[in-house]
Amino acid sequence: MAGKLSKCVMLCCPGKLPKEDMATDKYDQAIAELSKLLSEKAELQGVAAAKVKQLTAELQSAAQGFDPVGRVKTGFAHFRTEKYEKNPDLYGQLAKGQSPKFMVFACSDSRVCPSHVLDFQPGEAFMVRNIANMVPPYDKTKYSGVGAAIEYAVLHLKVENIVVIGHSCCGGIKGLMSIPDDGATSSDFIEHWVNICAPAKSKIKTEHSSLSFEEQCHNCEKEAVNVSLGNLLTYPFVREAVVKKTLVLKGAHYDFVKGSFELWDLDFKIFPCLTV
Ligand SMILES: [Zn+2]
Repeated sequence: MAGKLSKCVMLCCPGKLPKEDMATDKYDQAIAELSKLLSEKAELQGVAAAKVKQLTAELQSAAQGFDPVGRVKTGFAHFRTEKYEKNPDLYGQLAKGQSPKFMVFACSDSRVCPSHVLDFQPGEAFMVRNIANMVPPYDKTKYSGVGAAIEYAVLHLKVENIVVIGHSCCGGIKGLMSIPDDGATSSDFIEHWVNICAPAKSKIKTEHSSLSFEEQCHNCEKEAVNVSLGNLLTYPFVREAVVKKTLVLKGAHYDFVKGSFELWDLDFKIFPCLTV
């Protein structure tokens, strides 16, 4: 909304007014339009009042600079009135506990929130988000944070599906593909972390050496998901649940350039004897 309005202001009044005045004018105009709408359609009052609040905060931000506290306040107010208060049964249930069917690994990237992309409602998906949506192998000391989340999801929540979702234009995967062959690193954490999926990088560099760097990265986004699925099997409780067929592992890739989503099954042959 704020983006659209500021663009509109720039197009309407090029170079005539300082930015602050332009935003204020637009604000006054928008409020006037909403007030008119309110007086004409009484049934819209609730919706319009919420919209006025949101618009006021957005336009004030545009005029005065970004207001993070205001953004959080209006965001929560919108959630409370539009979702929390309209779904008392759901939130009443969630107050008692959670029993999500999904555990999801997704990238920390601000463009790929699974709740938005897959329309997960509160209580549906137990989530871990990290750089490049990676699942490290079982390691009690190096990766206890991720291990604790997987253990809780599988043993206590008894999720039935674990989905690892990669995505287009992933900076973490680009970082992995950019690590020089001698392994030299320049960051404190990032390169060490993304190196979890080094086997994916090696495979892509070997099998797709003729592709451009961008195409290699795109392929690696999916291959890294497969490495993570393999790593999930290094957790004894995951392996056991998969063998018992109480848990299914799936890979996925969300492409926000094309607006597409791929989903695939774990492509490993797993036999009970492997768990011994
Ligand atoms: Zn990413």
